[in-house]
Amino acid sequence: MSDFEFDLFVIGGGSGGVRAARIAAGHGARVGIAEEYRYGGTCVIRGCVPKKLFVYASRFSEEFEDAAGFGWDVGESSFNWERLIDAKDREIARLETVYRRNLERSGVEMFDSRAVLEDEHTVHILSDDRRVRAKTILIATGATPNVDADLPGGEHVITSNEAFHLADFPKRVVVAGGGYIAVEFAGIFAGLGAETTLIYRGEEILRGFDDDLRKALHEEMEKKGIRVLCGDVFTSIEKREGGDYVGHTKLGEALEADRIMFAIGRRPNTAGLGLDAAGVVTSASGAIAVDDQSRTNVPSIYAVGDVTDRVNLTPVAIREGHAFADTLFGGKTWSADHSMIPTAVFSQPEIGTVGMTQAEAVAKHGTVDVYRAHFRPMKHTLSGRDEKMLMKLLVDPASDKVLGVHILGHDAGELAQVLGVAMRMGATKADFDATMAVHPTAAEELVTMREPTERVTA
Ligand code: FAD
Repeated sequence: MSDFEFDLFVIGGGSGGVRAARIAAGHGARVGIAEEYRYGGTCVIRGCVPKKLFVYASRFSEEFEDAAGFGWDVGESSFNWERLIDAKDREIARLETVYRRNLERSGVEMFDSRAVLEDEHTVHILSDDRRVRAKTILIATGATPNVDADLPGGEHVITSNEAFHLADFPKRVVVAGGGYIAVEFAGIFAGLGAETTLIYRGEEILRGFDDDLRKALHEEMEKKGIRVLCGDVFTSIEKREGGDYVGHTKLGEALEADRIMFAIGRRPNTAGLGLDAAGVVTSASGAIAVDDQSRTNVPSIYAVGDVTDRVNLTPVAIREGHAFADTLFGGKTWSADHSMIPTAVFSQPEIGTVGMTQAEAVAKHGTVDVYRAHFRPMKHTLSGRDEKMLMKLLVDPASDKVLGVHILGHDAGELAQVLGVAMRMGATKADFDATMAVHPTAAEELVTMREPTERVTA
């Protein structure tokens, strides 16, 4: 009889942890899981899902305006923040129940508690001060929003965690940060009617994305009335008597706001987790160091998802968890492939992207053909909205292989999902050309760009 109570104990009931627990249990393993907040983790409770619901809500203001061009008189419209929060909370509660039920049905024992490591096989369940021993431990504790602890008045800011539960809708918002969460929330607040400013220390928003997309999104956000300040940063935050705030910046701005939100990155959730006690090695950023099989330096301990700071996206955490469980408990060894990951940014307009940016493609291949279409989508011929769509293909002239596809515009995220299949299969420009267009769509541009706009050489 083994002296282990569990074959696998998972710390963290989010995307990666839940998938790993269910798959391992399905392979016959005795599995326990601990979650200190709510099952479903960041994505379901305070990330992708509620964020996307907010994005949907925020788009209606433009839809009402655009309707006029198509003959509609929409009349007075108003927005009720409490009703949105209630509806969102009900949906999130429903999803959490589904997560719990699925774990239960898989035979996974659930602990609603914080759990920390005591050694390489022992987990301390804090809520009932119980210790469990497991042959294998999986750390799937995710990440948490960064705050600037040294910023005077930094205690006054909110992060995405609080943005989902604000008691009142702020009329003036400043979002600090230039990553996808910052631009998404700037679009949400602006669409719901707040006077919105985005402030980012870097030269241009969305570092790491294709430069044409970054510039085009910046322009479109400004057209929607969002003030986008790049190259500037808060030096202090002041809370005023009336309850609102002023953010003072390095370049001398005094930004008044009812709420200041920081979206300046996320750090792996490893504080106080007992990694030292178990001997688990982390990188300088606190991420758990793992190999491509999600193994840490301690043979009985594995880690998946954001806590490893590889590619911090839900489908990636899920796949890493699935691969881990199949490999250890299902007799099927595989690992998550981190290449060619299609990605969306639910900015307004949306971004969808697969493959290399132009800068990456030129650095790797030396010479790249760029096919670029920047056009007014059909809907806006009648709506009258001054919004452009951008589509860009990057092609290696030597092999004809498409190296990257970048889209800014309606449903770009949906397009990226489908393009991801073609890109994984190694589609060439000739494959795109040979594919019949779907007419009338915006996406048909992707298969009708005949001549390169330019050839770029390193
Ligand atoms: P998580 O889902 O964060 O789960 C970790 C869980 O561990 C949490 O529930 C936490 O409470 C629990 N936990 C931590 N420490 C302990 C402990 N000691 N004991 C017990 N439990 C513990 N990704 C996308 O793919 N698409 C998107 O559109 C998208 N939008 C996002 C929007 C926002 C605002 C945010 C913040 C993130 C978004 N993400 C998105 C990223 C995505 O949410 C994460 O990549 C994903 O949730 C990572 O899964 P995970 O399993 O690693 O961690």
